[in-house]
Amino acid sequence: MHRFRHWIDGQARDAAGGRWLDVHDPANAQAYAQVAAGDAADVELAVAAAQAAFPAWSALPHSERARWLEALASALETRLEDFAQAESRDAGKPIRLAREAEIPRAVSNLRFFAHAATQFASESHHGQAGLNYTLRAPLGVVATISPWNLPLYLFTWKIAPALAAGNTVVAKPSEVTPATASMLGELAAEIGFPHGVLNIVHGLGPEVGESLVRHPAVRAISFTGSTAVGQRIAGIAAPLLRKVSLELGGKNPTLVFADSDWRAHLDTLVRSAFQNSGQICLCGSRVLIERSIYDEVRDALVERAQALKIGEPADESTALGPLVSQAHYDKVLAALKRARGEGGRVLCGGHALDRPGWYVAPTVIEGLGPDCASNREEIFGPVVTLQAFDDDAQALALANAGDYGLSASVWTRDLARAHRLAAQLRVGMVWVNTWLQRDLRTPFGGVGASGLGREGGAEAMRFFTDAKNVGLHLG
Ligand code: NAD
Repeated sequence: MHRFRHWIDGQARDAAGGRWLDVHDPANAQAYAQVAAGDAADVELAVAAAQAAFPAWSALPHSERARWLEALASALETRLEDFAQAESRDAGKPIRLAREAEIPRAVSNLRFFAHAATQFASESHHGQAGLNYTLRAPLGVVATISPWNLPLYLFTWKIAPALAAGNTVVAKPSEVTPATASMLGELAAEIGFPHGVLNIVHGLGPEVGESLVRHPAVRAISFTGSTAVGQRIAGIAAPLLRKVSLELGGKNPTLVFADSDWRAHLDTLVRSAFQNSGQICLCGSRVLIERSIYDEVRDALVERAQALKIGEPADESTALGPLVSQAHYDKVLAALKRARGEGGRVLCGGHALDRPGWYVAPTVIEGLGPDCASNREEIFGPVVTLQAFDDDAQALALANAGDYGLSASVWTRDLARAHRLAAQLRVGMVWVNTWLQRDLRTPFGGVGASGLGREGGAEAMRFFTDAKNVGLHLG
């Protein structure tokens, strides 16, 4: 059985404690590999390697750091198919999604921040208080902790800006999907990436993740995952006065107005509900529909959901694969039971598939109000609820109900309404007549229970640096 090892100081390593965790293939629920089960001793080694590598890495000219990130991006690009196959198997992702969207996005993340390394500038102010300019220095050793839903995509989204800004990194991928992060560690070693600059420690959150968060030499933590774990990390980091960026859960509304071209956008509307089996923090899980078109939109969504091809992730024609793990499958099935208990009418799906693996049928539910748990708590599966609204005010009230505030999409031809709602929606990101169309320069993140801080472009470069102002008297 294949074993995914840590990458520390440019070397593959077993866990210090010699323990391993099983890694499962979600399409058949069988263990197909093992991953090192790290602990505080592995974190200690990795942080020491990162500390030793920091002076030389941070002193490199920006163009040299950019060159290393570009080299890693190019190496990944040449191995795109291997990585896509590995991601598809490890996460149960349709192969086309891994090949056409997620691994290419990991390449783009590395490349984008290679450019950012050379373009990042800081402010200067000239005026009555003389000349002030701001220095931006890398922090030192930083930790990144990422989830299983977009494994390499989110892993690279964090390590790339951290490295571009001159930090050295200890990265903890999800123990559920360790394959592609481990492969990237190997690739970095193959191209001669400077030792100790990027270290990867596998293992469970409470063991490896918390050891990283508590480690006195770790200057910042960039975390993406659930709100509950984000809150725990915030609780540990706050008294240590450690910088944190928290990208957490979502319960995103999709607002469909009667004047929209919703039929023309049906493909995107369906993708926004079900892509990656709904296991994307940006999926629209609450579909809000103007009452005059409610029946038509509902029927179209149900028809399209039922037509989605569910199958083996490795099959080129598969649109929907299994959920990622037994624990997550149990959680989604429990949420379906709860939705029925709350009085929800299941229009399609609502059950597991009678086949090996963690498959759940795409599900559309109506008849649930904004206060029930099904509309307030993240399910993170192929499950959407429908609610009708009569006017903009009611649409906005429904959209803003709940604690999460990650993203929203608004579907209308009325531009004034779109801009008005965009300003009033309590979220960090709004799409108008589109979904998940990302410009990597824009701020990414949520409000409320969806997190703290922003990633993307200059926001990420600022997070991974400390500002120091220098003021000069000009008199
Ligand atoms: P999770 O919170 O269970 O785990 C995320 C990571 O944190 C994993 O690497 C895990 O090992 C680690 N971890 C767990 N306990 C920890 C602890 N006590 N201390 C430190 N680290 C710990 O989340 P998940 O189930 O892997 O991912 C799904 C969640 O991620 C969903 O809630 C989803 O909305 C969210 N998510 C958010 C975004 C975003 O950008 N806002 C993007 C993707 C996923």
